Amino acid sequence: MTIRVDAAGAADVLARHREVTVLCHIRPDADALGSSSGLARALRARGVTVHHSFDPGVVPQTLGIIPGTDRVVPLAGVPAHDGLVVTLDCASPDRVGRWDRLADAASEILVIDHHGSNPGFGSHMLLDPAAASTASLVLDVLEAGGFDVDAETATSLYAGLVTDTGSFRWGGTGSHETARRLLSAGAESTELTFALLDAHSFAWLRVLGELLATARLDVDAVGGRGSVWLAVPHEVILVADEDDVESLVSHLRGVREARVAVLLKEYLPGEWAVSLRSRAGGAAADVVDVSAVAAALGGGGHPSAAGCTMHGDLESVSARLRELLR
Ligand code: 5GP
Ligand code: MN
Repeated sequence: MTIRVDAAGAADVLARHREVTVLCHIRPDADALGSSSGLARALRARGVTVHHSFDPGVVPQTLGIIPGTDRVVPLAGVPAHDGLVVTLDCASPDRVGRWDRLADAASEILVIDHHGSNPGFGSHMLLDPAAASTASLVLDVLEAGGFDVDAETATSLYAGLVTDTGSFRWGGTGSHETARRLLSAGAESTELTFALLDAHSFAWLRVLGELLATARLDVDAVGGRGSVWLAVPHEVILVADEDDVESLVSHLRGVREARVAVLLKEYLPGEWAVSLRSRAGGAAADVVDVSAVAAALGGGGHPSAAGCTMHGDLESVSARLRELLR
């Protein structure tokens, strides 16, 4: 049974433990690594033994700008112990990867997440789909528990907030309020956001041009709302930076003629990580809930940003998606 907790309740769970394993989701983004780095640092300042990891545990180069990611250890090196495991930004147990060994040994598991699709897991769960980022929830927990939030912790959390809100284009007043608290605590924004949101190699420009030339538009899809598609084959994945590949979806999102964007990334031969995006606009002001599409394929996420993993050749994977996005 999972006990639902608020920020103070989550802080109470943290206060019960002297050894804590802090995990975020596989193929982590800035919210996963930012929220977990911030929590890990605040716990260490309290004298807690912290194992900060994810599966498998190699931090993508660009996310290395986030303070604390240099202390991430490989998941295989984390000792099983009977303390606490905290999962951050993980919408379901499988998003944590191969953590059974750690979950089985732990006396308590605290889940901190903001995905509406989360079915609920762990012994305790702080789940708030209204939170702009998991990092926002971590700040609430740290403040409720009287933890020190120094400039480094604040910068780590800010990384999650600024990326999950699309640089504050969505997320509402709550996200600006969280930003105010983090900046007041000394969060660094300029270098961090350049590295996370803007920077890429010169070589990427050529690859980007070739890839974007292969994008496809289907104006009749999703009841006439339109969809735009891009597939990144494994050969390209092999020579590109992962964060550059992940950033492609923002180009698709901007296509006026399409309300739904589909990015297919063949990270392993025949295995596609699918990113789905949806936005309001046009005559029908509704947002197509792409998390329902992702959930139907074993994934999840938010109504306007979701994902899943699919297997097969590009044609069969696309056909299944097209069927769900009619
Ligand atoms: P992205 O497209 O950036 O990888 O993911 C968009 C959103 O969907 C994120 O909030 C992410 O956590 C969620 N998501 C992506 N892939 C999966 C998946 O395989 N399962 C679940 N449950 N959520 C996912
Ligand atoms: Mn997040």
